[in-house]
Amino acid sequence: MHVLFTTPPAPGHVYPTLPLVEELVDRDHRVTYISAASLEAEIVRAGALFIDLGWEPDTTTLAASGFSVDALSADLRGFLAAARTLAPGLLDALSDDPPDVVCIDSVPLGGFLAEQFAASTVSLIANLATNEGFPPSNLIDGFTPHHPAMQHYFAELADWFSAYGLAVPVGPSRDNAPAPPSLVFIPREFQIAGNSFAEDVHFIGPSMPRRARRSASWTPPHDDAQVLLVSLGTAFNNRPEFFASCAEAFADSRFHVVLSLGTHIDPADIGKLPHNIEAHQTVPQLDVLRHATAFITHAGMGSTMEALYYKVPTIAVPQVREQSVNAARLESLGLGVQLPSPTPGDLRTMTEKVAADTVIRSGLAEMKEAINRAGGTTAGTGIIEAAGTNRRDPA
Ligand code: UDP
Repeated sequence: MHVLFTTPPAPGHVYPTLPLVEELVDRDHRVTYISAASLEAEIVRAGALFIDLGWEPDTTTLAASGFSVDALSADLRGFLAAARTLAPGLLDALSDDPPDVVCIDSVPLGGFLAEQFAASTVSLIANLATNEGFPPSNLIDGFTPHHPAMQHYFAELADWFSAYGLAVPVGPSRDNAPAPPSLVFIPREFQIAGNSFAEDVHFIGPSMPRRARRSASWTPPHDDAQVLLVSLGTAFNNRPEFFASCAEAFADSRFHVVLSLGTHIDPADIGKLPHNIEAHQTVPQLDVLRHATAFITHAGMGSTMEALYYKVPTIAVPQVREQSVNAARLESLGLGVQLPSPTPGDLRTMTEKVAADTVIRSGLAEMKEAINRAGGTTAGTGIIEAAGTNRRDPA
């Protein structure tokens, strides 16, 4: 079977899919992944054939402007322009080995290719799933499909599909309830209004890759180090003053602190660091979390699920609305605390408290059981295989 993946070209959307890619490849399926050049190495390590979309999201602007409906529309339109440019060559290249299944996370290229090749589709959801009861306006400031910025995007999308004689897509992009079957990379227990989603929305939970994201490694400086990871993720992370305040808060603490600054900040800008604090632009986050006692996180869903997978208590410092929702969910489920605008004193006090909190520890143990029950990569791969089989042998 040939499975094609097309997702927003950003770590938060691509990384959760890599265990599926690995499992499909290990089951002798062919996997093609269309994404950004900055993610090529990890996608290839997972075993997929990589196709360069020729576009990367502008994280400098995102980091400065936050995630408004205007920013979302600009991002979608940037992606669409790249997809339109790539399409003729892509159709040609794929015509020798058309995809049986297209796995799509929100972006329109997947729907376009699935229509062209009459392939089955599987929707991928890397954040909280949305439906009528829990609409996307909960996650993105000012979002409505009728917003002029979104209408601008939909007009360009319609123009592209019409140029190929295809029906203009409605559904996924308009009401954000993606076409089933859907795979959601969180357990149903973490989803808000989890029971309001139908059975064909599969909450498979997070899984960790076996090959991808393993090229760099990290080990603590000594066996009993109390590791504290601090990261604001890869997008809304240009906050040098925040990282400086973390350095101040933990300078004389018992923690060994790992600061992941993001690519907009030069470690030299944080100033001279005490011996118990190391700073990098990016870190092998899974390795650090495996050893971590606590995690100061922006509560992006990728990082949130990785923290839960490794049972690490969180101190959430959300940067945009969607992360605030995740942060509030972590707190309300007793898995961590949220500190929207912390002082260095707050950071130190709450991290000490959370790291020692036995109620949070038992909440994390329960959530890990929910993750284990969710089915993960094995369940997700089975659903993709079933979608491919249905296409070739319609009953
Ligand atoms: N990540 C990483 N190293 C870093 C920072 C981030 O490997 O130094 C990974 C992290 O493990 C997660 C992804 O990048 O898988 C970020 O996704 P998330 O949804 O947490 O946040 P976003 O970057 O989308 O805001």
